[in-house]
Amino acid sequence: AQAKLDEKDPQAVSLGYVADTAKADKKKYPNHAATQQCNGCALFQGKAGDAAGACSLFGGKTVSGKGWCSAWAKKA
Ligand code: SF4
Repeated sequence: AQAKLDEKDPQAVSLGYVADTAKADKKKYPNHAATQQCNGCALFQGKAGDAAGACSLFGGKTVSGKGWCSAWAKKA
């Protein structure tokens, strides 16, 4: 199984990744919205609503379904 992405991973830190979208840094990322989460992101490799899944930005690691990072993009 793939390892879970750590919030302290340097790439995760640089993108402001958090395992819980509610914990996103709102000062640093004013465009963040609580409705944005990994399992609704275009880069998420799992199915919509999955608890965890791979992300094409973080190769080899899984992100939390309810996580978030500043590269969030709405799934088409
Ligand atoms: Fe989550 Fe999308 Fe960021 Fe990947 S790119 S960590 S799926 S918000």
